Formats: sequence, C-alpha cells, structure tokens
Amino acid sequence: TFRALLVEKDADGAVSAAMQDVEEARLPEGDVTVAVDYSTLNYKDGLCMTGQGGLVRSYPHVPGVDFAGTVEASDDPRYRPGDRVVLTGWRVGEVRWGGFATRARVKADWLVPLPEQLSTRQAMAIGTAGLTAMLAVMALEKAGLSPLSGEVLVTGAAGGVGSIAVALLSRLGYTVAAVTGRPEAASYLRDLGAETIVAREELAEASSKPLESERWAGGIDAVGGDMLARVLKQTKYGGAVAAVGLAAGAAVPSFTVIPFLLRGVSLLGIDSVMRPYNERVDAWNRIAADLPMDKLEAMVAEYGLSDLPELGRKILAGQVKGRAVIDVNA
Ligand code: NAP
Repeated sequence: TFRALLVEKDADGAVSAAMQDVEEARLPEGDVTVAVDYSTLNYKDGLCMTGQGGLVRSYPHVPGVDFAGTVEASDDPRYRPGDRVVLTGWRVGEVRWGGFATRARVKADWLVPLPEQLSTRQAMAIGTAGLTAMLAVMALEKAGLSPLSGEVLVTGAAGGVGSIAVALLSRLGYTVAAVTGRPEAASYLRDLGAETIVAREELAEASSKPLESERWAGGIDAVGGDMLARVLKQTKYGGAVAAVGLAAGAAVPSFTVIPFLLRGVSLLGIDSVMRPYNERVDAWNRIAADLPMDKLEAMVAEYGLSDLPELGRKILAGQVKGRAVIDVNA
C-alpha cells in the first residue's frame, strides 16, 4: 500500500478529503512509477480538495498537481529506476491521480528530468507556481522587455506565483513593484527584491477610463479581473503584461481594447499545464540558473499530507503566503 490524501464524494454530493492507505493496484495506468518525495500546494489544489471549479471528474481522487521524486519502475527507455523527476500540470491531480501521495504513476511524456542543481524539495518549492512565473518572465523577455525598460509590476505578489516572480525579476535586474492586499507582507516582499509596495486597494477598483497615466513597463498578473484591466490601462507605450491567474476573477468587464490600439500594449497569455516538453526543460533550466535559492527558501513553509485539507481552504481564501511544500512522507 501507499499513503495518499483521498478525496471522496458522498451520496449527497459532499466532498471530503482524508489520509488513507491505498492498494498499489489502484494506481492509475502509466509507464513510470515514482516514489514521491515532495508535493506542493497550488490554488488549483484548493479547488480540487474542496470539489470546486469542476476540475475533478471522478471520485475517489488523489489531488496534487505537482510532485517531485525518484523513479521506482519505468517501461519507458527515457527513465530508469533512481532517476530524479519533476511533474507539473498535464491535468495530473485534476482528472488524473496526482502528487498528494507517497507514490504516483504517470506517462513518461509528462515528466521532466530534475536539473542537477535542484533537490526534489527545491523543485516543489518552485512547483507549478514557479514554472509559471518563469514562463511569464520568458514571455516578457520575448516581447522585448529588459531591465532598462522601466518598472515592472507583479500582482498577487505575496502568493506563490507572485513571490517567485518578484524574486526572479529582481535577480534579473528589474525594478519590481509588488501589489499585495497584505500590508504585513511588505517586508517579506522587500526581502524578495521588491522596491515598491503597492496596496491592493490602489488597483482593485474598476476604473471607467479607457487609459490611465503610463506607469509600468510590464507586468505579471496573478489576479485577473478589474486589477488586470487597471494594470493594462497603466502600462507604458509598447509594454507587455503576462496574464497568469484569476485570483480575483476571470471576467474583465472594465477593459476596452484602447490600450492595445493607442499604446501598442500586449497581453501575453501564459499556460503552464499543457506546455510542450522542450519549453518546460528550458524553463526549468532557467529557474535553476536564475532563481536565487536563498530567496526561495525564505518563501517556503513545510507541511505533511494531513495538513492539506486546511491548507486548501486557506489558499482559496488568499491566506497562504509564498510556497507551501508538502513532505508526503512526514
Ligand atoms: P496564491 O498563492 O493563492 O496567490 C494568489 C494571490 O493573489 C494571493 O496570495 C493574494 O496576494 C492575491 N489575491 C487573492 N485574492 C485576491 C483578490 N480577490 N483580489 C486581489 N488579489 C487577490 O495562488 P497561486 O498558486 O500563486 O496562483 C495564483 C493564480 O495563478 C491563481 O489564479 C492560479 O489559478 C493561477 N495559476 C495559473 C497558472 C497557469 O498555468 N496559467 C499556473 C499556476 C497558477 P496578496 O495577498 O499579495 O494580495
């Protein structure tokens, strides 16, 4: 057997999550079996543990959209027992059993070999959140942004994606402004490299203006909704904003296309889940090279599998700071 956080739905449709010993034979089909060392907590895991968002299709379910560990058995020539691997996305933990377990079985195509320099714990301190932050930085670079362009804004900054985005941008030489709804997180964000802290209230309200004063050379937005609209309206001529999340909502009713047409502003969509293999490998290698590991450690709080149900409720309420790493063997 292996230990897992199993999510079940009862006859009344109520969803609950509990630790269980699960028979090996119940592992899903796949060509690589991994002994999981660490998993982590993402916003989506909060949805999957509480049965929200329509992400989980069938129960019982093992959530956990990320894991890192060691290959135990492989029917695929690319992986051998003992190899260290990381998995993010591919809807693992949503429609397939995921990483909130001591063992996982997946398709070899979904795995990425862990860069030498990273431990499995560091890989999960990074996780989908960090991969997404890196992909957003790379998209901004491709759009022409450089540290010389001016100030870059990160929204949802004290969250997982936001924290890693702040640390990466700062390390790469950008002047970073961080939006947070948690004033008490200001010194945390300054330590990660933010020069300016912007209070959430300044950007949360919808504005009826099609444009505002130009302020940001670029941005990484984890919040969506009216805040994304405000950021785009304040982006400088020729700037770009990477949209990664929807912590405040998916709809952007207060936005018009005027910033695109009059200022040549670009909105860059970032998906980490279905990213092709080569782009994942590039992004993981960039993370290993560019993310300051001491800053990463400052974002981490470590938990065990049994802490997850409570953590799931907290992340949905925007109360998790930085990155929650799960030691599945604790
Ligand atoms: P998280 O740790 O909960 O971070 C979200 C942050 O957004 C919160 O910490 C909070 O930051 C801020 N926030 C929350 N509710 C808000 C509201 N109503 N208005 C304004 N700000 C609010 O979650 P995460 O794991 O970093 O994920 C962030 C977002 O990115 C989620 O929507 C997630 O689904 C998405 N995401 C997308 C991809 C992709 O592939 N595109 C990958 C990973 C995540 P402050 O406390 O600092 O204000």
